[in-house]
Amino acid sequence: MDVPLNPFLNLRRTQRHAPVAAAMPARSDVVVVGAGLIGLSAAWRLAEGGRTVTVLERETVGAGASLAATGMLAPAAEHEPGSDPLLPLALDSLARWPGFRDALQAASGIGIDYREEGTLVLAIGRDEVERLRFRHDLQIRSGLRAQWLSGPEVRAREPGLRPGITAGLHCAADHQVDPSLVMAALVRACLNAGVTIVEGCPVEALDWSGDRVTGVRTNLGAVTADLVLLASGAWSGEAGLLPEALSLPVRPLRGQSLALRTTARTGTLGHMVWTEQVHMAPKGDGHLIVGATVEDCGFVPGVTAGGIYALLEGARRVLPGIEEMAVEAVWSGFRPTSDDDAPIIDVLAPGLIVATGHHRNGYLLAPATADAVADLAANGALPDYARAFGLARFRRAPALRASA
Ligand SMILES: Cc1cc2nc3c(=O)[nH]c(=O)nc-3n(C[C@H](O)[C@H](O)[C@H](O)COP(=O)(O)OP(=O)(O)OC[C@H]3O[C@@H](n4cnc5c(N)ncnc54)[C@H](O)[C@@H]3O)c2cc1C
Repeated sequence: MDVPLNPFLNLRRTQRHAPVAAAMPARSDVVVVGAGLIGLSAAWRLAEGGRTVTVLERETVGAGASLAATGMLAPAAEHEPGSDPLLPLALDSLARWPGFRDALQAASGIGIDYREEGTLVLAIGRDEVERLRFRHDLQIRSGLRAQWLSGPEVRAREPGLRPGITAGLHCAADHQVDPSLVMAALVRACLNAGVTIVEGCPVEALDWSGDRVTGVRTNLGAVTADLVLLASGAWSGEAGLLPEALSLPVRPLRGQSLALRTTARTGTLGHMVWTEQVHMAPKGDGHLIVGATVEDCGFVPGVTAGGIYALLEGARRVLPGIEEMAVEAVWSGFRPTSDDDAPIIDVLAPGLIVATGHHRNGYLLAPATADAVADLAANGALPDYARAFGLARFRRAPALRASA
C-alpha cells in the first residue's frame, strides 16, 4: 500500500508525479499557460494530434486546484437546483471517462484508482430527509439514476456509518479517481507524447501582432506559438495577461480538505459518502479524503481551525470511526469559478483559446474539455456538446436584462 508518511502534516495533498525539468523552447506550435488538470489534459490531446506543445507553469504541476481535489466524478450526487444547464456536459464527460482512463493508463503506465461504487447521499433527521426527497425528485426529473434507501439499507451497505442515519440515496453511476495519480499519469503521458513542461515559469504577457496572439513572454524568455491555450484556473480572471475587453468572469473559491489514514482496525468506507456538511471519498492507498469547504475569500492561502473543525465535525456526525484515524494531511486549493459555475471554453482572439471556470467539476469535465479544446484548435468551432459553454452566454446577459 502506497501511503506517503509525513512527520506532521502536509499542507498540500501529496504530489506523486516525477520531477519535471525542461528547458524553454523558443518556439512551439501550442503554448499552454498552466500545468493543472485542464492544461495537461488538453496538452496531451493536442500532442497526440501531432502538434508540438509546451506547458508553462508558474509554480509546480497541480499547484492550483488540481492536487487539492477529491476526484469525485459525481453528477448525480452534486445535482441541485440550477445545475440543469451543466448536466448534459457533465453526463457526456462522465461517459468519456472510461475511454480517457484507458488511454491515460496505457499512455503513462500509471493506474489512476478509478472506482465505480457510486455515492451514498445521507440524511439524518426529518428535515434532512425532506430535503433528500426533494433532491431525489429533482434527480429523477432530470433523468439521473438514484435509488432510495432506508436507514437500515444504508447501513447494510456501509456498516461503519452511525445507526442514526435516517435515509440515503445510492447514486450508482457516480465514479471517482485519485487526483494525485491522475496528475502523475498526465505528466507521464504528456512527456511520452513529447510535451515540454516547464515549472517555475510564470507567463507575464501575451505577444500580439495586430489582433492575433503570437506567443508569450515569461521570466525565462519568450516563446512564439501558433496557438496559446489559457488554462490558468482561478487566475484566469486576474487582470494582467488579458486586455480589459477580454477579461474573464472567473474568481477563486477556496476549498479546504483533509486526508485521514484508515487501517484494518479503523475500517474505511466502500462508497463515496455525501452529506449536507461534507463529502468523504475512500482511496485505494488507504486514505479517506474529507472535503470540502466553499469560501469566497479571494486568494487567501492556507487552512483555518474553523474549516478543519467543520470538516471533522461533519465527518464524525456520520462516521464515528474517524476518531481513531490519523490526520495525514490538510490543505486548501482555489476552485476556478465562473459567474454561472460552468466552464468557459472558447476562442478569445485569433491564436488564443481559453479553458477555465471548471469550479468543483474539473475532474468530471476534463475528458470533454480536452476533446473540445482539440476541436477548437483544429476547426475554430466548439463541438455540439460544448457549444453552450462559450463566452457568448455572459455577453448576452446584460441585453436580456435591458429588454426585460
Ligand atoms: C478542495 C477541492 C475539491 C475539489 N473536488 C473536486 C472533485 O471531487 N471533483 C471534481 O471534478 N473537481 C473537484 N474540484 C475542482 C477541480 O480541482 C478543478 O476544477 C480543477 O482542478 C481545475 O483545473 P485547472 O487546470 O483549470 O486549474 P488549476 O489546477 O488551478 O491549474 C491552473 C494552473 O495555472 C497556473 N498559473 C496561473 N497563472 C499562471 C501564469 N500566469 N503563468 C503560468 N502558470 C500560471 C497555476 O499555478 C495552476 O497550477 C475540487 C477543487 C477543490 C479546491
